[in-house]
Amino acid sequence: MKNDCLFCAIAAGEIPSSKVYEDELCYAFFDIAPQAPVHFLVIPKEHIGSVAEVNGDNSPVVAHIFEVIAKVARELGLESYRVVSNVGEQAGQSVHHLHFHVLSGRDMTWPPG
Ligand code: 5GP
Ligand code: ZN
Repeated sequence: MKNDCLFCAIAAGEIPSSKVYEDELCYAFFDIAPQAPVHFLVIPKEHIGSVAEVNGDNSPVVAHIFEVIAKVARELGLESYRVVSNVGEQAGQSVHHLHFHVLSGRDMTWPPG
């Protein structure tokens, strides 16, 4: 757990959040400022700064997160959804702990803004 990391604190239960799913490797919770009717985030419990820090040692948790996304989306009955991970400030990353946004429930445009 990294000091002063908001999502490490959320994964540890030190800061409350609305839990969607949890297991020993990852935690999923609804976004505090939803950008779609369904908007949750899936994070590894271990601190990884962003996709840019994924490597051969920590990539199994990323594969696991994608299995979790598929399972939770199925359980929520989502037929169509978008998975997004912003990397760096220009792309819109505001929390520097790896997270995958899962957005659903409205029409979406492409390319994203
Ligand atoms: P980013 O901007 O880094 O791609 O995504 C960070 C996301 O975390 C944003 O969508 C923001 O609304 C969400 N967020 C920030 N602080 C909190 C919080 O304290 N609780 C929850 N549930 N979501 C948060
Ligand atoms: Zn962290």
